Amino acid sequence: MLYCQDIQGAVILGARYKETPVNPMEQYARLLVRVGANVQKDQVLVIDSPIDCAEFARLAQVEAYRAGAAEVVFRWTDEKSARVGFDMAADASFDRYPEWARAFFDGYSDAGAAFLHIFASDPEIMKGVDPERMSRKNKAQARALEHYRSRQMSGKHVWCVASVPTVAWARKVFPGRGDAEAIEALWKAIYETVRIDRDDPVAAWKEHLAALRARIATLQGYAFTALRYRNGLGTNLTVALPIGHLWFGGGEDSPGGYEIVANMPTEEVFTMPHKDGANGRVVASMPLNHNGNLVEGFWFEFKDGLVVDYGADKGLDTLKSLLDTDEGARRLGEVALVPYGSPISRLGILFYNTLFDENASCHFALGKAYPTCVSGGADMDAAALAAAGANDSLVHVDFMMGSADLSITGIRPDGSEVAVFADGDFAF
Ligand code: ZN
Ligand code: ZN
Repeated sequence: MLYCQDIQGAVILGARYKETPVNPMEQYARLLVRVGANVQKDQVLVIDSPIDCAEFARLAQVEAYRAGAAEVVFRWTDEKSARVGFDMAADASFDRYPEWARAFFDGYSDAGAAFLHIFASDPEIMKGVDPERMSRKNKAQARALEHYRSRQMSGKHVWCVASVPTVAWARKVFPGRGDAEAIEALWKAIYETVRIDRDDPVAAWKEHLAALRARIATLQGYAFTALRYRNGLGTNLTVALPIGHLWFGGGEDSPGGYEIVANMPTEEVFTMPHKDGANGRVVASMPLNHNGNLVEGFWFEFKDGLVVDYGADKGLDTLKSLLDTDEGARRLGEVALVPYGSPISRLGILFYNTLFDENASCHFALGKAYPTCVSGGADMDAAALAAAGANDSLVHVDFMMGSADLSITGIRPDGSEVAVFADGDFAF
């Protein structure tokens, strides 16, 4: 699942006060507000959006008020000026995160606001930035936002991450096309992945969420102690699962008891691995866009949960600074299953955006585990979570490793084996 750590199309608003969405963009805004963040009457919604996506963010604002929101608060970000900062700001600034920004996120989280994060990073905006500066800046931010982040990852506040095309991102996904054409193609792809192309998108989501719930029930019933992964790319990895691990996917319960969908799109079912239980080699099957830098052709070798060796064809510096964040960055915090034949995978588009790519492929995450993925975990302190096998880190970074020939075997407590994946897809 994509955790939005990086707090960072023209449309005419003339029809905005009509009750029925008149175009796909309005339908999409409505879906994110009503199904994703599921904004409640009198709630505050915080929209965290790049300035390039402002017109869409305003549509979401209108939908939130229609849903009964008391107030919609914006936090605008701009990665182009962030890039200038990385190149030109004083060195000491990379170890700071402003107190007012921490107070903003903590304050709204503690007060019960919902958060809508629009994630639309140019995959190469930070190319050439000193990876050490980037790592220091990310660490300073992650430390300052520890309270907020732990509330988010423990399901203590409502959040939804979704994406909106920007020119830079669209041109990376559809190289060789003009700006307008690339943007249009990316909108079309996004609409397909979030089921806006269906007659009744909300009903389509209900059906999709029910199918994911059924899959979760099957996996939960097996109570696997480990999963063994193999494919022709060279992955040969066994990952232990902690006792009491819980599978999630699709919708989840908010603190208020109503259902939200934290990532849109979402096709994955996921749980936590035991932090000390990965052994063997995993080879990535897609590039990773990590904070505006691409890492390609990479692999990790694990011993008792820890990355003991790694390599990459491209972006090795970025990978190294990610792994050097802290010890938890060298251990796994998420195990996610996505069929190779998932609707997003079938589009055959490499999005260079984790929100989409992780839902086209089986993946793992390096770094912090979602505490909710072990029984009672949401209310455990750090020591209890570690004892339960949950990994902790300042980062949570998903990377993709699914392939058409991936097989996954589940090991049950009695030692018996169950085929979970065969030829890249669920075996049940
Ligand atoms: Zn995931
Ligand atoms: Zn994740």
